[in-house]
Amino acid sequence: MCRLNILRKIAKNRLALAGIDDKDADYIISYTLNIPITDIAFNSMDLTKKQYKDIIKKVKLRCKHIPITEIFKKAYFYGLEFVVNKNVLTPRADSEILVEKSIEYIKPNFRVLDLCTGSGCLAVSIAKNVKAYVEGCDISGKALKVAKKNVKLNKADVEIYQSNMFEKVQGRFNVIVSNPPYIETEVVKDLDIEVKEYDPVLALDGGKDGLDFYREIANNIKNYLLDDGVLLLEIGYNQAESVKDIFKDVAKEVELIKDYNNNDRVIVVRI
Ligand code: GLN
Repeated sequence: MCRLNILRKIAKNRLALAGIDDKDADYIISYTLNIPITDIAFNSMDLTKKQYKDIIKKVKLRCKHIPITEIFKKAYFYGLEFVVNKNVLTPRADSEILVEKSIEYIKPNFRVLDLCTGSGCLAVSIAKNVKAYVEGCDISGKALKVAKKNVKLNKADVEIYQSNMFEKVQGRFNVIVSNPPYIETEVVKDLDIEVKEYDPVLALDGGKDGLDFYREIANNIKNYLLDDGVLLLEIGYNQAESVKDIFKDVAKEVELIKDYNNNDRVIVVRI
């Protein structure tokens, strides 16, 4: 019917014409055919009519700015697979550094909380890599459904429950992590279609200056961290100084960590 290398060219052209990164062709092909992304370039295997149609259909959806994660209803994060939908923030590679750093602080049997867990990607990734008691909570019931699916899918040991920030959180923790909403309200409406239409505003909007959730965490953190406990928060690339300032009265030590794009991405706070 058609060879993969020919179809790949067609797919790349269509995506480029729609203003979309043509690398997405490889993701679409890899996910549709269930073959590793590294086996796609220069691959001249024959495709069946069905495979060809399937790939073209998905390329057309991507050309309408529907994200790959929405087309396939899955995302990869920290080497694990997660189900996603419009009710959760799609896991971003930028957040993997938050997991990596958290794991460095977690010792066996520590209590760990993931506040604003969303898809559960942070809580699940942590639980799969260390032996700890991990909890994840979120205000959104719809997000919690997704988080619970991800706990099951990954056979992770994580307790998921509903809570508006710390409202229903019980006890104290050795490590608290969070990727709270941190985009300024005014900026949310100018985000890419892929973000503003497929990630919930609830998970993005951090209030007028984007910092509402950091203030709320700073005001409550003393009641939820154990002695020598550590708080690790994702921050926007330009928020390091403002977030540092928010924690200056409660923190005895603050450290900033960059992501793999060299942006400030995580703040580590000791109180
Ligand atoms: N990093 C996300 C973005 O730039 C925002 C995540 C958040 O608000 N926590 O779209």
